[in-house]
Amino acid sequence: MKRKFHFAADAALGKLARHLRAAGFDTRSAPQSAQSDFWQTLDPKRIILTRTTNLRRRFKDRHPVFIRENDPWRQFLQVMRELKIKADDLDPFSRCVVCNCRLRETDRQMVKGRVPDYVWQRHARFRTCDQCRRLYWAGSHPVRMEERMAAIFSTQPRKRNDECETT
Ligand SMILES: [Zn+2]
Repeated sequence: MKRKFHFAADAALGKLARHLRAAGFDTRSAPQSAQSDFWQTLDPKRIILTRTTNLRRRFKDRHPVFIRENDPWRQFLQVMRELKIKADDLDPFSRCVVCNCRLRETDRQMVKGRVPDYVWQRHARFRTCDQCRRLYWAGSHPVRMEERMAAIFSTQPRKRNDECETT
């Protein structure tokens, strides 16, 4: 069974947040604005990811993950290692990388004209984000992302003709 992880990433970790969402993890990003009450109202279940010593100190009791790496992929790897997240915990491409919303299966006919013809011809199933209306299909994320994720966990990348998972 997949273990659920919920994250809150500080504003400097936008790319890491996208990678985490691509891997299926619920990840909220702090807004740039210092006026925001994002941190005051944060759900206690969220694991804090931060690069700032300020936040690290402020949330000491919640054991934030202090991100030392600069490269977003290394940051991703650091999170996986420190929290002992395994390949089985991932649910790749189930979540919009921008909005963090879960994707919904969408009728292929409804997608026609909204994606390039060659994409529509080649793919049987599509998913959509209800918030931003972005469309996702197997292969809509950069191939490299899947390969790198597979390399991190030493698992085989999914076959290119593999469609999105349904659950
Ligand atoms: Zn979206």
